[in-house]
Amino acid sequence: MTVHVNSPYFKENASRALADPQLQRALANVKTGFIEKRAAVAARLPEFEDLRDAARDIKNHTLQHLDLYLEAYEEKVRASGGHVHFARTAEEARNIVLEICRAAGARTVTKGKSMIAEEIGLNSHLEAHHITPVETDLGEYIIQLRNEMPSHIIAPAVHLNATQVEQDFRRVHTNFAPERDLSEPVKLLGEARAVLRDRFLAADVGITGANFLIADTGTSVIVTNEGNGDLTQILPKTHIVLASIEKLVPTLEDVSQILRVLARSATGQELSVYTTFSTGPRRPGDLDGPENYHVVLLDGGRSAMLGTSFQDMLRCIRCGACMNHCPVYHAVGGHAYGWVYPGPMGAVLTPTLVGVDKAGHLPNASTFCGRCESVCPVRIPLPKLMRHWREREFERHLTPATVRSGLALWSFFARRPRLYRLATAAAMRGLALVSRESGRLRRLPFAAGWTKCRDFPAPQGATFQERWRRERGRKGR
Ligand code: SF4
Repeated sequence: MTVHVNSPYFKENASRALADPQLQRALANVKTGFIEKRAAVAARLPEFEDLRDAARDIKNHTLQHLDLYLEAYEEKVRASGGHVHFARTAEEARNIVLEICRAAGARTVTKGKSMIAEEIGLNSHLEAHHITPVETDLGEYIIQLRNEMPSHIIAPAVHLNATQVEQDFRRVHTNFAPERDLSEPVKLLGEARAVLRDRFLAADVGITGANFLIADTGTSVIVTNEGNGDLTQILPKTHIVLASIEKLVPTLEDVSQILRVLARSATGQELSVYTTFSTGPRRPGDLDGPENYHVVLLDGGRSAMLGTSFQDMLRCIRCGACMNHCPVYHAVGGHAYGWVYPGPMGAVLTPTLVGVDKAGHLPNASTFCGRCESVCPVRIPLPKLMRHWREREFERHLTPATVRSGLALWSFFARRPRLYRLATAAAMRGLALVSRESGRLRRLPFAAGWTKCRDFPAPQGATFQERWRRERGRKGR
């Protein structure tokens, strides 16, 4: 069992999101900021497209030999004095983390940003066992105060504005003067920093995710812009790295190549502010570092994706570019997807991890414009994978009856080309006739969803097939 899955209610969630003016204003920032920055920084690097190919190839190679790289990684971590724990399920991962925390006598745990921790519902599990988790990434900290899920994989609080954050800080940080000025984002940042400094010092265990795990050296790599990950993993006596198995890459050189496309694709930076490598616990003579070093590796359904049409999805390096460029994400935001991973990558990954019965309809929320694939740094064919899910949803009879009947009707005509041509020509002429005055249709039978919020432009002139035949006839002359 993973965290609560709200994906079956995508339609209802999306309708609510569309009617939320504050959310729509916040989403407008995603549409411009991320896209412009990525485009500018990519244009400045002539080898950017070659690096995307290289990143794809490195991940493909690793996935083809994942068993070997996992073994090599485990051996190196052990040799450096650390421990590796394999968890098949979210429940196993939660319990392993809990046991490590208990062994450390932990009462407070600081956390760097980790989507796997979200996936396994770690915070509520620790709280249920009287251990206080404290998120230290600013966005994660804010949504923890609000008891919300992240709405974006690299900008968890992108759905909020500064006024909402100010209200939350005033509600929770009651030991500060009520009349203090929090009108500027920098003042909010200063207050969060002041609160979190004490938490860093009090923590018994630090939990981070990992952007990469290096098989050759047993190293975990985190990429942050706030430095919170470093304080999380260096200050407490015990450091837990919580990651999924596909984070493996063979060597340091491979990581160096992928890092060149990661930050550019994510935030439009050439590199993130902090890229931190950690290998095992503190060694004699080290100035700092944890005494105990554990890595918890979650499978959570990923090994079942190997060798299937969904293996490509395991290349994902969680940059967020696909959602930054997705018109559906721009319209409804991340919470509408109802689980941990939103946008195009979520539409592919969520049905794989929580089941097609709960989330198989998410790939229907796509315009198939292909922007996600065109910006993905590891060239994941997201539209193709979404199509695979649509096929599976249809095969399992999970598609709504109206859609199935519509498709059956279409397929009846499509298999009879002459009838198809006659029917489409008649339908076009009929629609053109009923809308001859305005050229638009206010209502369409069986397609109320199209016309609920906008008019449908009436078909004009000839059908596509008629025009096609005419053009070909012209060229043949
Ligand atoms: S699917 Fe590609 S673009 Fe989307 S988060 Fe993953 S790596 Fe980034």
